[in-house]
Amino acid sequence: MPAVHSILALGGNLGDRKETIRSAIRALKETDGVTVLAKSPLVESFAVTEAGVDKSRPNYLNGVVEIETTLKPGALLDLVRSIERDHGRVRLERWGSRTLDIDIITYGTTIKDGKRLTLPHPRAFERAFVLVPWALMNPAAVLPGHGAVAALAEGVKNEVWVVK
Ligand code: ADP
Ligand code: MG
Repeated sequence: MPAVHSILALGGNLGDRKETIRSAIRALKETDGVTVLAKSPLVESFAVTEAGVDKSRPNYLNGVVEIETTLKPGALLDLVRSIERDHGRVRLERWGSRTLDIDIITYGTTIKDGKRLTLPHPRAFERAFVLVPWALMNPAAVLPGHGAVAALAEGVKNEVWVVK
């Protein structure tokens, strides 16, 4: 199986958010068939639910990584879900607070709409907390089906702020 480049988005709003993201990236590095090529800066944002911004919930911290992997998409989804579980994620409600969410943003240039997995991630094109760190990590990045990540990020950059 040839290696494929993939963008993963990591974030959470409970516990020690920075340490959780670091630990998840360590877990990716320790996985056979996964090489972490690049890490973005981290960005913070207000929690958003179906009803809109909810400042009563803790803020999110998010970042993205670029990996190279020989795992197929389904195996990569199993991996990120197991890393979520190892970091205490309990899936209570769709918009609920969580210690760690890992989404597969892209898998090579694959476009698919499956039962378990949609690629690219269907909401990535409008999510500041994905687009802004991704554009900072790679100003030339392209989101398949949507175009230049930097241009998409420009339109939503006010929704997040970069943290040290
Ligand atoms: P969200 O990330 O939207 O907050 P969850 O993390 O609970 O929600 O994910 C819900 C489901 O989304 C997962 O069980 C997974 O099967 C599905 N899914 C579909 N496409 C993707 C993707 N590209 N990356 C991660 N999960 C995905
Ligand atoms: Mg998710």
